Amino acid sequence: MFGNLFKKDEVKHETPNQWIKCPKCNSLMYYKEVEAQQNVCPKCNHHFRINAEKRIASIVDEGSFVEHDSTLAPVDPLKFSDKKSYKKRLEEAKAKTGKTSSVMSGSCTVEGTPVELVVFDFAFMGGSLGSVEGEKIVRAVDRAIEKECGVIIVSASGGARMQESTYSLLQMSKTSAALNRLHHKGLPFISILTDPTMGGVSASFAMLGDIIMAEPGALIGFAGQRVIKQTVGVDLPEGFQRSEFLLEHGLIDMIVNRGDMHHTLADLLALFTKDASVVNRPVPKRRKTDFESDVEPLNEDA
Ligand SMILES: [Zn+2]
Repeated sequence: MFGNLFKKDEVKHETPNQWIKCPKCNSLMYYKEVEAQQNVCPKCNHHFRINAEKRIASIVDEGSFVEHDSTLAPVDPLKFSDKKSYKKRLEEAKAKTGKTSSVMSGSCTVEGTPVELVVFDFAFMGGSLGSVEGEKIVRAVDRAIEKECGVIIVSASGGARMQESTYSLLQMSKTSAALNRLHHKGLPFISILTDPTMGGVSASFAMLGDIIMAEPGALIGFAGQRVIKQTVGVDLPEGFQRSEFLLEHGLIDMIVNRGDMHHTLADLLALFTKDASVVNRPVPKRRKTDFESDVEPLNEDA
């Protein structure tokens, strides 16, 4: 759905010896120079998209990442086909990225604090959310509950995977329900929005973080700008759907440069999880509805 909007911005990893042009400031730079700065433009701070492996390396303590569920692969229950069959698209995505899904998940530490990490890879079918991606997120949350640690999800996605139709949409509620279980255990979920975070991903788990942070300049929204403009029939404000606009309007908590992400995450995780008294607190009792009397306070046993 959003594929054509996003192609211009990707660093060509397969041609590392070439010059690249920054799409924001138009500077021509040697690829290695940009790569050495975690794929951030040294002239204007434009954050290029990076693959899941580079993202993981930029966040975790060196050597601490242990991948889980790497062999989970999608099936094609609907036998879906548009211009190409879903099966063919999956084969192409696997050949391009070496992955069987658009997320990598695993256990790691960030400055010594254990955490479960899920990272999207936009290069695999636009980082779309299918049943395997949803299952990997839920398994990561379940591991975090078992280990009493937090969860970090780094999103880079065009949204739900249309080739899986309702199976894909179901992942929105499935992941949200899992994060609700995590929340009731008093364990933190930190959501990191990167360019782009759109559609069903932004409409579910990505916006459920206890802390929601974004990289500078990331495109974040539900429907694309063109669709909204056609629907409402007015020009949209400057910077609409970018991180800075969303911060100003209260949808996200902070914008963090890629180079500062590791330390910021370490500080937040320590703040949220080092105190053992926050874990294993009882699940709050259900609030009574307006039709019931005597609303009980939450956490009355705490
Ligand atoms: Zn630049």
